Amino acid sequence: MTFDYDVIIIGSGPAGFSCAMQSTKFDKKVLIVEASDHNLGGSWISKGTVPSKALRAAAKLIQSFHKQFGDEKGRKPFERFRMEDIMEYKEPILDSKNRQFKDDIIKNEVETARGWGRIIDKNTVEVTDQLNNKNNYTAKYILISTGSRPSEPKNFKVDHARILDYSSALELTHIPRRLVIIGSGIISIEFATIFAALGSRVTILSDLNEVLPFLDEEVKAELIKSIKKTNIQIFNNTKIKKISTNDLRTCDEVLFKVKDQEQLQVVETDHVLYIGGKIPNTKTLGLEEVGVETDKNGHIKVDNHYRTSVSNIYAAGDVIGQPSLASASFLQGRLSSTSMFGSSTKITPETEDIPFGIYSIPEISGIGLTEKKAKELGIDVTVGRAYFKTLTRADLNHETDGILKIVFKTDDLKLLGVHIIGEQATDNIHLGQVVMAYNGDIKYFIERVLNYPTYSEAYKIAAFNGLNRVYKAGVKYKKILEKNQ
Ligand SMILES: Cc1cc2nc3c(=O)[nH]c(=O)nc-3n(C[C@H](O)[C@H](O)[C@H](O)COP(=O)(O)OP(=O)(O)OC[C@H]3O[C@@H](n4cnc5c(N)ncnc54)[C@H](O)[C@@H]3O)c2cc1C
Repeated sequence: MTFDYDVIIIGSGPAGFSCAMQSTKFDKKVLIVEASDHNLGGSWISKGTVPSKALRAAAKLIQSFHKQFGDEKGRKPFERFRMEDIMEYKEPILDSKNRQFKDDIIKNEVETARGWGRIIDKNTVEVTDQLNNKNNYTAKYILISTGSRPSEPKNFKVDHARILDYSSALELTHIPRRLVIIGSGIISIEFATIFAALGSRVTILSDLNEVLPFLDEEVKAELIKSIKKTNIQIFNNTKIKKISTNDLRTCDEVLFKVKDQEQLQVVETDHVLYIGGKIPNTKTLGLEEVGVETDKNGHIKVDNHYRTSVSNIYAAGDVIGQPSLASASFLQGRLSSTSMFGSSTKITPETEDIPFGIYSIPEISGIGLTEKKAKELGIDVTVGRAYFKTLTRADLNHETDGILKIVFKTDDLKLLGVHIIGEQATDNIHLGQVVMAYNGDIKYFIERVLNYPTYSEAYKIAAFNGLNRVYKAGVKYKKILEKNQ
């Protein structure tokens, strides 16, 4: 049987893009179907990763400048800088990413069809364009990489004017003086620290009893310390009762209750930002009719080759659920393609091999076991710490808040986890990731020459610090250390 294409990819985010690029390396004919009539690139380029990081970069620049040189009139950043200034910083970045994306698909002869894709049988995708014209395309394989969208709150409505979600927050035309963020996940903490850097007074209302419960405890303590120095207030265990407009005071009011407390609390704000999670974009794809199974949250079920319950239909990216990151989606899309056209032995990466990066100010990143988790698993571990205030590079940059913590097995010094908060954490994590991927131990950091001054020096300091601790443990490990030195 002949088809129009080797693979049709529905959705042009990181999962779709990387599947397309990899498939062209196998000399395959590729069609990307994209519903957005603006840009290609999905949440990655248009609504999430890159725009939020560009906003962060501008806010960080303003914050550093303000911290270092102040303002002769004592103005706050939002009184001195306008969103227009920030847009001027952001726009060329987005333009450049869009151009790169288009260049890559043109160079690699990937075709595109604009419109909503729907799978009508296991080899056919129907595409409905803006004018309701329908065209059918066939392929040997189909990849579903339709991503996700923000979930909606239950007891109020996001109107994208006063009450925003993570998409509309990136479209704000001014810097709010006051912002209430409902939700306390990664994106909430990122937005909170970005707007606080711009001078906004931020209140986080979390329904959990702590923010980011997966973080290493010492990293979390550093984050909370850093948050306390800024204009951010966190209320945990809250329940939102009502959001209303106070015309007299020209503001919105968020009424909430904290668990086990009787009284209703009110916080005044210019905007509310609701960040309650993501919903997979699966509804209009015709999955049920074609037999593609989903779980109770609507995520598409896949095996470790990213194959769905229909063997020639694959799925990757946010649409299959955690970790729901552009970083992981790139790899998943590429592996889907290698499974379709290359070797069939490659399997999904283990969760503990995937680092996470939180682009708050300061940055946070981690990989592998935390000290707490290792102990729960009964592993005899030792930790090593490096405080950023001891790093020359941090001194040079006036960025001395932060800690890098390594977790390693006491008996053979094997590295099991790295947890960082501080400047360049999301880059610096990869040195630890490589050592862990090759089953390395902490002697790597001690025996190698690392560039100086760098933030990577923290690994060396933490390794020495950890080794000292093993020494102090005494006779029990003496032989091991002799063997290891
Ligand atoms: C504010 C924010 C910040 C983020 N920051 C980071 C970060 O720093 N690092 C990181 O790794 N991740 C980050 N993410 C997550 C990241 O953006 C997503 O995980 C990633 O974009 C998911 O990629 P994807 O390929 O699954 O889908 P998406 O990027 O969501 O793209 C899906 C595409 O499919 C299209 N589509 C949907 N349905 C159809 C249909 N029926 N027919 C045709 N086209 C369709 C959509 O229009 C969209 O273009 C962030 C997300 C947000 C919201």
